[in-house]
Parts: sequence; C-alpha cells; structure tokens
Amino acid sequence: MLNIMLIGAPGSGKGTQANFIKEDFGLAHISTGDLFRANIENGTTLGTTAKAFMDKGDLVPDDLVIKMLYERLSEDDSKNGFMLDGYPRTVEQAKALDSMLTEMTFKLDIIINLKVNDETVIKRLLGRGRTDDNTETITNRLKVFKSQSEPVLEYYNGKIKILNIESEGTALSIYENIKNKIK
Ligand code: ADP
Repeated sequence: MLNIMLIGAPGSGKGTQANFIKEDFGLAHISTGDLFRANIENGTTLGTTAKAFMDKGDLVPDDLVIKMLYERLSEDDSKNGFMLDGYPRTVEQAKALDSMLTEMTFKLDIIINLKVNDETVIKRLLGRGRTDDNTETITNRLKVFKSQSEPVLEYYNGKIKILNIESEGTALSIYENIKNKIK
C-alpha cells in the first residue's frame, strides 16, 4: 500500500504525472482542483464559492478545502492507497491533514516535489487553455504558490521522505524518473 503526496507549482505537471502514477500503482487520485471543478459543474454552493477564488488564482479558504478533503479521504477507495494532488497548499492544510491521517490510521509514505521554472510554467499553462489559465491569473497563482505552498515543503522536511524531481522535458521522461525513484 502506498500513500503519495504530489507537490508542485501550477503548471509543474502534477495532473499529468498523477495520471501516470495512478495507472501504474492503482491509487485513488484525490485532486482538490478536480473536486472543485466537479462542484462547479454540478452547481453546488461549494462550487459557486470556490469559483470566485479560482477565477482570480487565489486559494480557496482553508476551512472549505479541509472539509472537502476529509470527506473525500473518508471514502472507501482511500484505504487501498491514495495520491494527493494539489493538497495541501498551506501549512494550515498540512496540519489538518496530519490530524486526519492519525484519526484514519493512514500514513503518508512519500512526497513527490515537482520542480519547474517560471517560464516553463507560463508556457505550459497558456497552452492548456483552462478558464483560470490567463497571464494575470497565472502570475498570481505563482505568487501564491511561493508564499503559501512552498512553506509546506519546509513543514515536511525531515518528517517525510521527499523526492525532488526536475519537471522539465517530456512528460514520459519525467515519469520514468519518478517511477524509478518510487520503487
Ligand atoms: P493548478 O495546479 O494548475 O493550480 P489545480 O487544479 O490544482 O491547478 O487548482 C486550481 C485552483 O483550485 C487553484 O488555483 C485554487 O484556486 C483551487 N485549489 C485547488 N486546490 C486547493 C487547495 N488545496 N487549497 C486552496 N485552493 C485550492
């Protein structure tokens, strides 16, 4: 059983690598971004609230994300191994996760940190064309990542094994590197 956390700036290739990993390792893929987009599509109150933040490239408030994550982690498939993609993005979220994992008797095995430079991020995101992928929003998301999410790595440093992966080059070559290091 394997429990993974994927960390990386917007455009670092988290989603792409998550798809490769989940296929190979059969993990429940828990993407908070996807969960929010599903809520938006279904017109839920949570979706409406989240959309206002997402459209600006801001983080959705911690209490909403934490509650949503708790509910998702409580679903049955998490027991067979999961991969967190896009959570935690703040130290507050990381601390909440610690409590959840203790309560659910889950253990995080490994953190995969996808490292990428800003120019690559901007190129990738502008090429993707999601509604929150415009220059202004991207710039803000990068800023938010540096101020709010990079401290999450420091928080875990020395507590959980962190794999640092250079996320430049083709998606497949990056994945080969990840796969060799996980095994
Ligand atoms: P990206 O990695 O390209 O930013 P995501 O799908 O992971 O894409 O996230 C899209 C948006 O969803 C974020 O900009 C943010 O507004 C919101 N979001 C996703 N996960 C979280 C989280 N853990 N905490 C707060 N906001 C989040």
